[in-house]
Amino acid sequence: MGSLPKGMLAVVVREIGSYEITRVPVAVPRSDEVLIQVRVTGLCRTDLKIIEAGHRDLVLPRIPGEEVVGVIREKGAGVSNFQIGQMVYVYPGLWCGVCPACQADSENLCREMRIMGFHRDGGFAEFVTAPARSLIPIPAGLPPEEAVFAEPLSCCLNALEQAGPLAGKTVGIWGAGPAGTLLSRAAAAKGARPLSVEPDDRRRERIGGCWPAPEALFDLAIVAVGSEAAYREAWSHLAPRGLLVIFSGLSPTAAVQTLDLNRIHYLEQKIAGAYGCCYRHGEEALRLLAEGSLAVNDLISHRLPLSDLERGLEIVKNKKGLKVLLYPQTTGPEASPDEA
Ligand SMILES: [Zn+2]
Repeated sequence: MGSLPKGMLAVVVREIGSYEITRVPVAVPRSDEVLIQVRVTGLCRTDLKIIEAGHRDLVLPRIPGEEVVGVIREKGAGVSNFQIGQMVYVYPGLWCGVCPACQADSENLCREMRIMGFHRDGGFAEFVTAPARSLIPIPAGLPPEEAVFAEPLSCCLNALEQAGPLAGKTVGIWGAGPAGTLLSRAAAAKGARPLSVEPDDRRRERIGGCWPAPEALFDLAIVAVGSEAAYREAWSHLAPRGLLVIFSGLSPTAAVQTLDLNRIHYLEQKIAGAYGCCYRHGEEALRLLAEGSLAVNDLISHRLPLSDLERGLEIVKNKKGLKVLLYPQTTGPEASPDEA
């Protein structure tokens, strides 16, 4: 490729509660980094949270965007294992590799973790730099807009991993938005028997879920909606020796749950948190997607240029669609119809 542009379109959050779409300099990759031309970037509820309310891991000013697939346009002098023009998925974390969490293959809990879109600039821009060791090649034949689901799917795989082997287990999943649907499909791909609990008719019907929650108790309950009520309900539908996974964070202002410790005592139940994902989850997610083990195409409800971010955020906020994908290289509207 010829000379790269000096400036690029990007979404910049300078203070919580607002953002601007503006031109900023294209970053120059360091020795161990590459410059990626962003092909597609996913918008998720976390981005809405980052812009509206901030996030524990957010450092400002920041270009958000932690779900990125793009093409390598430039390499630092120290990068030898990737090629210019190669399509890659970016594992959003940069981990230290030496702390106890990293040593235990749990780099999502790394003490020094730096996350793209949180600590360093992300994919809501025409270009983004990323460390070469965070890259994962896209398997042949996997379209970029399916590959970009590797990030949310990775977080689901991390959550499911908390339960150990899944074959034959019943899994109750509260919420059938993009994350809840990916959780359900990934659980099914691993031999579990998932059931989604979802009040929205269209979302419920698409995945064959139920509402209200059934009488049945689940071996595994995962809450993919930031609602205290959902947590209370999931907790009450947990089988003896069942596991409740805290997948969706709650607002810091939400009241602290009061758990009945005696119930845990008598029923030998467990609670596990799940936050983010590891590099290996990205590899597994891309493999599952490339094999066709779980579909994601039907989850894409909107394809928008970066300039339509406001609309995208509104769709996510009001649950008017499912997955919103942003195309930073597109200047004109290239929107698909609203969710039917
Ligand atoms: Zn570490």
